[in-house]
Amino acid sequence: MFLSLKEMERGKVAFRETYPPGAIEFLDERLRQAGALEVEGVAELSPALGEITVRGRLQGRMETECDRCLEAVVLPIDASFTLSYLPASALAAREEVEIEKGALEAGFYEGGGLDLADVLREQILLALPMQRVCQEDCQGICPVCGQHRNRAACDCHERLPDDRWARLRDL
Ligand SMILES: [Zn+2]
Ligand SMILES: [Zn+2]
Repeated sequence: MFLSLKEMERGKVAFRETYPPGAIEFLDERLRQAGALEVEGVAELSPALGEITVRGRLQGRMETECDRCLEAVVLPIDASFTLSYLPASALAAREEVEIEKGALEAGFYEGGGLDLADVLREQILLALPMQRVCQEDCQGICPVCGQHRNRAACDCHERLPDDRWARLRDL
C-alpha cells in the first residue's frame, strides 16, 4: 500500500493491510516471513514540515537462523510503533545540527509519499531481538568437532585443557 502525500493533505489516512509471506523483502536473506504480517494504523502529515508520522501495530511471525546453531527460529512480533519521515529535500534546507538531531529520530522520503512496506521493513528490524537464538541456553555448534551441542555433548572442552597439561608434562 502506498501512503500518498496528496491523500494525507486532505486528512489522516487509516490503513489495514495483510502481507503474505514473501511480500516484504529483507536485505538479510536469512530473514523471512513465517506467516502473514498484519498491520493497521494511521498516517498523518504535518504540513509545515512535510513530516509524515506513521502510527500503528504490527503482528506476525518472522523466521531466521539461530545465531549460535543455525537451526530455524520463529520470532513472533507484536509491536506498536510510531515512526517519523521527513522529506529528503529537508536535508538540504536545514542547518547541519538540526539534521543530525532529526536523522536520529526520523527517516526520509522522496516523491509523492511513502510505501507502507518500507515502513514495515524498518519496524520489523527494530522489533526483532538483537540476539536471535532458538533457546536462551542454546549450546551452538562445537567449533572444534562440529557437533550440534543441543543434541549431544562432545568432549572437546574436557580434552583441550588436558592437552595443555600433557605438553607441560613433556618438558
Ligand atoms: Zn540455537
Ligand atoms: Zn566438539
